[in-house]
Amino acid sequence: MSRALASVTLIACLAAAFSFAFAGAEPQPQSTSWVDQYRVDADRIIQEATSAPFAWHRLAELTDTYGNRLAGSENLNRAIAWAVEAMKTDGLDNVRTEKVMVPRWVRGAESAVIVDPPEHHMPMLGLGGSVGTPPAGIEADVLVVKTFEDLNQHAADAKGKIVLYNAPYVSYGQTNQYRTGGATAAARHGAVGVLVRAIGPTGLRTPHTGGMGYADGVAKIPAAAISAEDASRIQRIVDRGRRVRVRLKMEARFEPDVESANVIGEIRGREMPDQVVLVGGHFDSWDVGTGASDDGVGCIVTWEAARLMKKLNIRPRRTVRVVLFTNEENGLRGGSAYRDKYQAEAGNHVLAIESDSGVFAPGRLGFTGSTAAQEIIRNIGTLLIPLGLHDIGSGGGGADIGPIAQAGKVPMLAYQGDSSRYFQIHHTPADTIDRIAPDEVSKAAAALAVMTYVVAEMPQALPK
Ligand SMILES: [Zn+2]
Repeated sequence: MSRALASVTLIACLAAAFSFAFAGAEPQPQSTSWVDQYRVDADRIIQEATSAPFAWHRLAELTDTYGNRLAGSENLNRAIAWAVEAMKTDGLDNVRTEKVMVPRWVRGAESAVIVDPPEHHMPMLGLGGSVGTPPAGIEADVLVVKTFEDLNQHAADAKGKIVLYNAPYVSYGQTNQYRTGGATAAARHGAVGVLVRAIGPTGLRTPHTGGMGYADGVAKIPAAAISAEDASRIQRIVDRGRRVRVRLKMEARFEPDVESANVIGEIRGREMPDQVVLVGGHFDSWDVGTGASDDGVGCIVTWEAARLMKKLNIRPRRTVRVVLFTNEENGLRGGSAYRDKYQAEAGNHVLAIESDSGVFAPGRLGFTGSTAAQEIIRNIGTLLIPLGLHDIGSGGGGADIGPIAQAGKVPMLAYQGDSSRYFQIHHTPADTIDRIAPDEVSKAAAALAVMTYVVAEMPQALPK
């Protein structure tokens, strides 16, 4: 056999081995990989995270004891104090709060009633940031539209009406435009109030709240969500040529800004403490349900990264910093305040991780960063084969880590739960822990902890 032929044969064998490795249904750990050196600790982390439902119970304690946690509320203040104590009990380093001034929006009493035909009380939720109605409420005929184009075509009919956006749910990204911008679009044509069909897959007659805004120079009119079922009912009556009259009462209002805080705990790095792997979620929620999926669970699973390392006596080269951000839902002031405070050190953040899409199975990890960084993250992902979370997709990011990531050109990783289950209960009274299984929480925590650990431990920083 000639030398050249031997080489060709070798290449062919390697190619065969390579394709064999990818042909199997179950991906096998590649024993030659550089990530092997982290496998023992990664397996310890996975074992510790999944052997007992610690994280689920911590989430249950948070949501049962403190309930929903709108920024500026007493509930959130008390939950922040609890988190500080719990992080200290975990033995985290440098546990602290960092002050953030936040808007304080108060819902007050509210109702939406079809007064004709016949009197029919609708489950409703005023949209976050909405103005209220006069004390007696507003009463008007309803103009039903399906889209903004539809509204523009019926602009002449909008004056003095309550506009109902009866847009079927397609996706959150596509449909929430009616929640965020619907009031202003309707007010431009003289409408006096707005109702929005629930932004989510049809639930159990469930309205979904969420943030909305107004434009300068356009009248601020009250806006509320109603369920898909009631929106459909109004649509059917109107389609039969019958008018529908609604009375809307809302006490919603803004009060002066109040003090809130981001909560921070760390595992200080043993060699490069100034380099930071940031992990977190937002600790505030809407003022309905208990903010279990949005985003209590995101806070708990990212916090687990540090707790598990402390418990297992793992202190990586770089600092692991857990941040429970305040005010994501109605102001994003926690994420902005973090960026402002750490602006000078933004470049020292080697990775920013956020969990703010629930943990409903099947979950996945998404990454945003350079090709070189992606390759490394994909390799670390092979350590997650025992969890079935080794396929790293795109779409890393999060509202709270966005500002610091932009300032420091920081790669971003996100845990993404199944969106169909997440958006069914998103921003509703049904966002409670009852819907989340303990192993969904444990697996997310394990995956994020392994990712955090390896990126904090690798000799070289994750490339930007
Ligand atoms: Zn959220």
